[in-house]
Amino acid sequence: MSINRFRTIKVAVIKGDGIGPDVVNATLPVLDAVQDAVKGLKLEYTFAEAGLHCIPTYGTNLPEETIKILKSSDCCLKGPVTTPEEPGSPRSAVVQIRTIFDLYANVRPIKTLPSIPSLKPDVDMTIVRENTEGLYSGIEFMTGKDSAIAVRLITRDGSERIARFALNLAMKRKKHLTYVHKGNILKITDGIFKDSVQKIAKEFPEVSVDDMHVDAAAMNLIKRPEYYDVVVATNLFGDILSDEAAEVVGGLGVAPGANIGDNYGMFEPVHGSAPKYTGLDKVNPLAMILASKMMLEWLDFPEAAKKIDDAVNTVLSEGKVLTYDIAPAGVSPAKCSEMGRRIAKEIRP
Ligand code: NAD
Repeated sequence: MSINRFRTIKVAVIKGDGIGPDVVNATLPVLDAVQDAVKGLKLEYTFAEAGLHCIPTYGTNLPEETIKILKSSDCCLKGPVTTPEEPGSPRSAVVQIRTIFDLYANVRPIKTLPSIPSLKPDVDMTIVRENTEGLYSGIEFMTGKDSAIAVRLITRDGSERIARFALNLAMKRKKHLTYVHKGNILKITDGIFKDSVQKIAKEFPEVSVDDMHVDAAAMNLIKRPEYYDVVVATNLFGDILSDEAAEVVGGLGVAPGANIGDNYGMFEPVHGSAPKYTGLDKVNPLAMILASKMMLEWLDFPEAAKKIDDAVNTVLSEGKVLTYDIAPAGVSPAKCSEMGRRIAKEIRP
């Protein structure tokens, strides 16, 4: 998808709930600073609501008005939202947006960052998670009073397009793809996934391709995280592996994600709404700030994305303004908003 760089870009901003407003409020000054620093970058925000707090007012966690705003924007910057878990409650707002816009690729970079303890010093991988099918199909039903079935929907088309996306990404990186499955148990669904990746891989002879069972892949993430370059997985496996991989490089507070389709992108942290920290201005804004960097890359403003990356690296290396989860012993933790302002200050010309 190509965006005209010479016009104002319309960004739908969803602050979400729980810690969402804190991390989004810490990110907006960073984006304001980048617009001051990069000629021609002009973002116009439209704020929209989604999340648990919408349900009493709108009867849904994704109001129609929000869908309208999303449809009239170029992309979305989204804070996390809480999803109610009771049977019959609304489907996750995030999963709804992914489905409406067919955002089939969930891209989650995992990288060792300066000054943040990492299991290995040179972790640099990207997990590509299929985002629209698998066990997130939302199809579940009772088969008796005490038994139920959830549908793990896997299609050849869905598997081939996520394989192609991951292989294209591998071509831009270290040309290594690992596809993760449980084909020894899920012989039909993961059989389709495996066949599809192998088929599309033939179009990318320069990429070295291997595979792992998901349990072995989870173990190897701890033992040898530096082994991976691009990892592609079905929906639930990719979701679980990316939270685990985030911990390898410092925790959920530093893990950004992008949801990419052919015509739209939504950018958000990997983490959820961490309700116990609501309104405390305490959590790490980096995952959200780095998600905004991914948005600028997707919008084809690499110079703006680099400014965020450089500023984040400087602030981390300096080691003075860091939230509780990454502040070393002896450094008093900064607030979420302070860290956002410090990164913005580093960018502003
Ligand atoms: P979570 O990611 O919200 O939090 C798990 C733990 O990770 C937190 O208790 C905290 O210790 C840590 N953490 C998360 N974000 C952090 C940050 N920015 N800085 C420092 N530490 C951080 O996971 P959960 O508790 O399983 O889910 C809570 C809610 O979030 C649920 O309703 C879930 O459905 C929702 N959720 C939403 C999204 C999304 O909006 N895309 C993603 C995942 C979970």
